[in-house]
Amino acid sequence: MVYEVIVDISNSETDKVFDYLSPFPVEKGERVLVPFGRRQVEGFVIGVKEKSDCRYDLKDIMVRLDDRPVILPEMIELAAHMRATDLRLIDCLRLFVPSKLRGGRVKALTRNFLYFDDSRTLEEALGEVKPSAKAQRAILTELYDLRFAPEARISEKHSASAVKALVEKGLLIRKSTELNRTPEGMIYDGKRVELTDGQREAVGKIAEGAPGTYLIHGVTGSGKTEIYLNLIEKTLAEGKTAIMLVPEISLTPQMLGIFRARFGDMVSVLHSGLSDGERYDEWRRLLTGSARVALGARSAVFAPLKGIGVIIIDEEHDSSYVSENNPRYFTSEIAEFRRAYNGAKLVLGSATPSIETYYKAVKGEYTLITLDKRINRMKLPELETVDMRDEIRAGNTGIFSARLLSGLEQTLKDGNQAMLFLNRRGYASFLRCRSCGFVPKCPSCEVSLTYHKEDGSLRCHYCGAKYRAIDKCPVCGYEDLKEGKTGTEKIESEIKRIFPEARVLRMDNDTTRQRDSYKEILTAFGAGEADVLVGTQMIAKGHDFKNVTLVGIVDADVALYYSDYRSAERTFQLITQMAGRAGRESKPGRVVMQTYSPNHYVYKFAKNYDYRGFFEKEINTRELTKYPPYSKIVRLLVLSDNADSARDASRALCAEVVSLKAKTPGIMRVQVMPAALKKLRDYYRYQVVAWIDAEAAKEIMPYIYAKANAANSAKVTVFTEVNPQQML
Ligand code: ADP
Ligand code: ZN
Repeated sequence: MVYEVIVDISNSETDKVFDYLSPFPVEKGERVLVPFGRRQVEGFVIGVKEKSDCRYDLKDIMVRLDDRPVILPEMIELAAHMRATDLRLIDCLRLFVPSKLRGGRVKALTRNFLYFDDSRTLEEALGEVKPSAKAQRAILTELYDLRFAPEARISEKHSASAVKALVEKGLLIRKSTELNRTPEGMIYDGKRVELTDGQREAVGKIAEGAPGTYLIHGVTGSGKTEIYLNLIEKTLAEGKTAIMLVPEISLTPQMLGIFRARFGDMVSVLHSGLSDGERYDEWRRLLTGSARVALGARSAVFAPLKGIGVIIIDEEHDSSYVSENNPRYFTSEIAEFRRAYNGAKLVLGSATPSIETYYKAVKGEYTLITLDKRINRMKLPELETVDMRDEIRAGNTGIFSARLLSGLEQTLKDGNQAMLFLNRRGYASFLRCRSCGFVPKCPSCEVSLTYHKEDGSLRCHYCGAKYRAIDKCPVCGYEDLKEGKTGTEKIESEIKRIFPEARVLRMDNDTTRQRDSYKEILTAFGAGEADVLVGTQMIAKGHDFKNVTLVGIVDADVALYYSDYRSAERTFQLITQMAGRAGRESKPGRVVMQTYSPNHYVYKFAKNYDYRGFFEKEINTRELTKYPPYSKIVRLLVLSDNADSARDASRALCAEVVSLKAKTPGIMRVQVMPAALKKLRDYYRYQVVAWIDAEAAKEIMPYIYAKANAANSAKVTVFTEVNPQQML
């Protein structure tokens, strides 16, 4: 037999498969050590065949590194599929195994245990040690009761030399045991609830339906988690396995606890908080079949499970499902591949599905299930918009409107809690007229222009158009166009100034640098140790606080005027999510949204929780402006440590795409420009942006990938991004 091996060499240009022979049988998917040049390197066997076409003499595989294949046949096919999108095969394969497995850095955790030798009674054993050997006698008595205990603990408590003496006398037996490092979750009672009619219907429709993709559009608090749990339960009962994906931020101890309570050791948890050892053990439990449910953030989509029955993606619209680092991938596309391969069901859930997903549901590609009521008929909180232009006209130039201030005052007086939310995204900013709400837009791309303070310019991140910043509003003549940006710190200090007695917590990138600070802040707020929580996006998701009766969205427009075609969609999602934080229990909640553009359609629909209405309006806009789902926006990001190389390579690449455009009408526009962030970590960045008709994309993309791939050289690296989350 001839074995096809891809060698695992980091930062090398080789992404090639080599043929090897082997003196012993090896299975596809195994990790092996092979001679490579003058070195020995690790590799993965990705194919087995009868004979080789190689002209040179083949070498032998040296060693099998594991006792079983670590990459399933399905995953080898998946890697080949991902490679077609311009990724290196080895980079894909690396996603499938825990990083520390490679290079042999993780060993199974073994620990010595001491056992009382059962062939004796306690009296007999004690008879064999001197009465003066107090420590030895105490150990024997303790272990007789316990039967066995970790050696480290006994040695520490009594004495290591006493342990040694007892083992030598044969009174204690030492055994080495392999442990599973299972991360702890909160203990939860596995209490069952009676499903509501809506939940039962949803479960039935999916469980009894055909393999395919299902979208559960359910308002916040409609009980989606319970639907997922029921689906997984049914899947396990059929002898199949399940993957449950949630945004990293939702992997709270509660979530882990709920899954543990329901599925016990069947669940394996994969997330970034695990130690390398824990990750390895959890992954291995899935590979060996001792766990059959993988719960985790986006990378858990690669869980080594066979016979998948259902894959669930909760909060489907969340941007954490897109990997923006190399290798770049869309979790939903990987899930779709695995769904199809296994003939399984893919379930997407959200209160605010992404426009592209909902579009597929409307077109019938996905089966749509709608839940429009909260459990126990709890009402969704009242959403109020405040026109900040009126505040200016009334002489209030502060960050809080009179309405929000009085709301805060009342909340504090009643002893309830408030959350103040400020959206912040990256580096970008925009100019805004505080008198009429005017925001400058790109005439050709219909997105807001980004304000670049360093050179006082306004730029479009899609076409690169550049204008001089203005300070007088062209619509109303107001002379003080301001940068539309406030910081969370500013909000915090203002609250403290206006309400000196209020206890305030702040949660943003600055206050959550340390690993657990994020959890600590939320726990403190949940325990009522503060009256007001000020924060960014981080506070918008999934947290349940019973006493929150007021949510203030300090500047709702920030997401709206971000230079991005998804800005309205993101604004709708954020408002809905923040509103979901208020009035979770018996106390009714209130949401105050401050905006300079109260007439924007997004606020009209968000106010009434009218997702469908928003979708109809938005999809029309996308069709007119030719944004996704009617096109694919492809960005070829060209990086080099030399500015000229980056510029020249991007221009050459653009010329290639332009010549392609001449042959096919599917490419609608192509432009080359410096990226909005011209330099990042010593790399100069240029970009080629192409707009490709959605209908033609399937046919055109392989050409684009090929061009991008060919443009890679020793000097420049090209990354291809489809519908990038950010144009920075
Ligand atoms: P969603 O994910 O749709 O926002 P959750 O799954 O968090 O909603 O459910 C909201 C709340 O309702 C949770 O506290 C959950 O325990 C509770 N719940 C869900 N289903 C039921 C049910 N059938 N009966 C009673 N309570 C339920
Ligand atoms: Zn533009």
